[in-house]
Amino acid sequence: MPIEEWDHLQPRSPLCNGCQKAFADKEDYHTILSLSQQGYARQDVCEECWAKGGDPAKRSGALSYWQGTYQIPAPPKAEALKKEDAESLLRKFIDSKDPGHSNVRYILAVMLERKRTLKQRDIIEREGEKVLVYEHMRTGETFLIPDPRLRLDQLESVQAEVVALLAPPPAPTPQEQAATEAAALPSDERAG
Ligand SMILES: [Zn+2]
Repeated sequence: MPIEEWDHLQPRSPLCNGCQKAFADKEDYHTILSLSQQGYARQDVCEECWAKGGDPAKRSGALSYWQGTYQIPAPPKAEALKKEDAESLLRKFIDSKDPGHSNVRYILAVMLERKRTLKQRDIIEREGEKVLVYEHMRTGETFLIPDPRLRLDQLESVQAEVVALLAPPPAPTPQEQAATEAAALPSDERAG
């Protein structure tokens, strides 16, 4: 199953998937990513359930495993919803499920890791491909980012592509502005 089928919107569960107890703020949790016939699945369990063994079958078949500290999710910032930033771009490219965007996705994930928005949890191998496992620090969503193994000479052009995507479009010149306004006028007024 291609990594593009992974739905990053499967976030960290607010409840332990073992005992169904709600996670408390700052409580440690254990995450297991697995792949079954139904697809990729994520399980979050509390310390107690993990110590009890949970489901050893699932544990041994796990693609990835990590430990984290639960944070009660904060409401999203209003300004974050408006402007296109590295995070919204990454979500857009992941949602597009287009493997052609793998270089851009990778650079965006690295940028977000530097900003501490994402934390790298693991590196897994899928069909001979290296896949970086990231967790969103605020929402707990899991992002699987195939490593495109960019060469140094490719890095620069991909970075330039990402910077262009993040830059706001240039403001229209006064001439362009006037042309737009003239085009918006009803035709009889334009004819004079
Ligand atoms: Zn539990």
